[in-house]
Amino acid sequence: MSELVKLGLKEAAEKVKAREVSSVELTQACLDRVQARNGDINAFVTVCSDKALEMAEASDQRVKEGKSRLIEGVPLGIKDLFCTEGVLTTASSHILDGFVPAYESTVTANLWKAGGVLLGKLNHDQFGMGTANENTHYGPVRNPWAMDYTPGGSSGGSVAAVADYQCMATTSTDTGGSSRQPAFMTGTVGIKPTYGRCSRWGVISYASSLDSPSVNARTVEDAALMLRAMAGFDPKDSTSADIEMDAFDEDLADLDVKGLKIGLPTEYIEVEGLDPRIKQTVLSTAKRFEEAGAEIIDVKFPLIEYAVPCYYIIAPAEAASNLARYDGMRYGLRVEGENLVDTYKKTRSAGFKLETKRRIMIGNYVLSSGYYDAYYLKAQKVRALIARDFQNALDKVDVILAPTAPTPPFKVGALTDPVQLYLQDIFTIPNSLAGLPAVAVPSGTVEEGGTTLPVGIQFIGKLFKEKDLLKVAYAHEQMTQFKPLELKG
Ligand code: GLN
Repeated sequence: MSELVKLGLKEAAEKVKAREVSSVELTQACLDRVQARNGDINAFVTVCSDKALEMAEASDQRVKEGKSRLIEGVPLGIKDLFCTEGVLTTASSHILDGFVPAYESTVTANLWKAGGVLLGKLNHDQFGMGTANENTHYGPVRNPWAMDYTPGGSSGGSVAAVADYQCMATTSTDTGGSSRQPAFMTGTVGIKPTYGRCSRWGVISYASSLDSPSVNARTVEDAALMLRAMAGFDPKDSTSADIEMDAFDEDLADLDVKGLKIGLPTEYIEVEGLDPRIKQTVLSTAKRFEEAGAEIIDVKFPLIEYAVPCYYIIAPAEAASNLARYDGMRYGLRVEGENLVDTYKKTRSAGFKLETKRRIMIGNYVLSSGYYDAYYLKAQKVRALIARDFQNALDKVDVILAPTAPTPPFKVGALTDPVQLYLQDIFTIPNSLAGLPAVAVPSGTVEEGGTTLPVGIQFIGKLFKEKDLLKVAYAHEQMTQFKPLELKG
C-alpha cells in the first residue's frame, strides 16, 4: 500500500505544487486504496476512476504551467447528496436510480476550481436521514476502527473514507449533526459551518432551513483548508450569506488560550443517558483549557430537552415537502402502476426506505390542518427560544464546549428503535436549529469489550466566526494525546 495515502490535504497539495509528487500518482494511490478497502468499508457508492485520472492529469498540467491552485491535485470524496455533472448522484436512495445531473453543485464546482480531484461519491443515510448509516440503499458503511461498528450517520461514508486513508478530505452535509456525530465515531474532524456559509445550490435537499454543506478530514488544519476551498457567497442560493471569507486554515496556532472564555452548559452534561466516559471527556477538556489559562463559564440551556422533539418536527416537515418531487415522472425510478396515482404510490413505496417514509408521514402529519398549530408552529417558537439561549450564552463567552454524542460508538444494527437513534442527536441538534457553526474533534479513546474506539467533543461558535472556532479546535488538537487510526489493510 502506497504511503502517499497518509498525506493530509494541506501536505498533499504542497507536495503536488512543489512537484514532489504528481496528482496522477496521488490519485492512483487513493484509487488503489479504495479498490482494496471498499468491499469491507463500503464508503464509496461510485468510484470515478477515469474522471479522477483525467482531472489529475489536468492538475499536473497546471502545475507545469505555474498555475497551481489552493488544493491542487488532491483527491476528494463527495457525499452522494451533492450533484456532480455527468456523474451518477443517488442520495443513497433507490428512487434516484440512474440520476445523472446535468449540473454541478456550487460547493463541488468551487472544489474543482480550487484544483481538487473527484475520486468518487460517498455512501450515507439516504437524503441525510439517519444516525448509523443504515438507512441507505447501498448497505451500511463500516467503521474502520472496528468493522462491526457503525461510523455514524448520516455522513458515514465521508468519515470512513478519511479515517481509512482512502482520500484526504470529504464533503458531508450537516442538518442536525451529520458531519459531527460521524466524526466523533471515527476519530476524525467534522466542521458544520454557519448556515449560509456554503451554498446549498445543487445539494439534494433534506430540510432546507437546516442543511449545511460540511467538511470531514483527519486534522483541524485540513478540515479548515477544505472549508476555505468550498465556501463562499453564491447568488444562486437565496440563503447564501454575502459575507467576507476568511482564510480558515491560516494562523490557526495564533490563539492565546489565556483569557479565552469557554462556556460549559451544565444542562448538556447533566442530560439523562449521557455515558459517564463522555461526560468525563468533556470535563477533562475543560480542565486542560483551564490549566492553560482559559476561563470556564457556566452557561444555561434550560430548553435542551426540547431540541430533539423540535428538530424531529421541523426537519420531517421540510423533508415531506422537499421529497414530494420524487414522483417517478421526470427522473430516477419509475414503477408503472394502473394509473397515474398508482404509479406514484408504487414508485414511492419502492423508492424510499422505511425511515424515509416515516419522516414523510410525520412531516405531512405535523403540517396538516388541525395539527399545524399544535406541532409545527409550536416547534418554530421553540426553535426561536433555543436560538435566543445561544445568543445569550455567546454574548458572555467565546465558544461553547459540549459533548458531540451521548454514548461511545455503537455496533451496526445495535439501535433499532427510531427514538433511540433520534436521541443520539441531542447535542448536535440545538446549534443546528440556531444556524450556528460547530466543530467536532477527537479527544481520546475508550475500551469496549476489548475494542478501542474513539471519542471526542465539539466546540460551538458564533455566527460566521468559524475562524475563531477553528483556532480553539486546533488548540485542543495540540493539547490532546489523541492518536489517529493507523493505516491498516
Ligand atoms: N441524524 C439526524 C437526522 O437523521 C441528522 C442528520 C443530518 O444532519 N443530515 O435527521
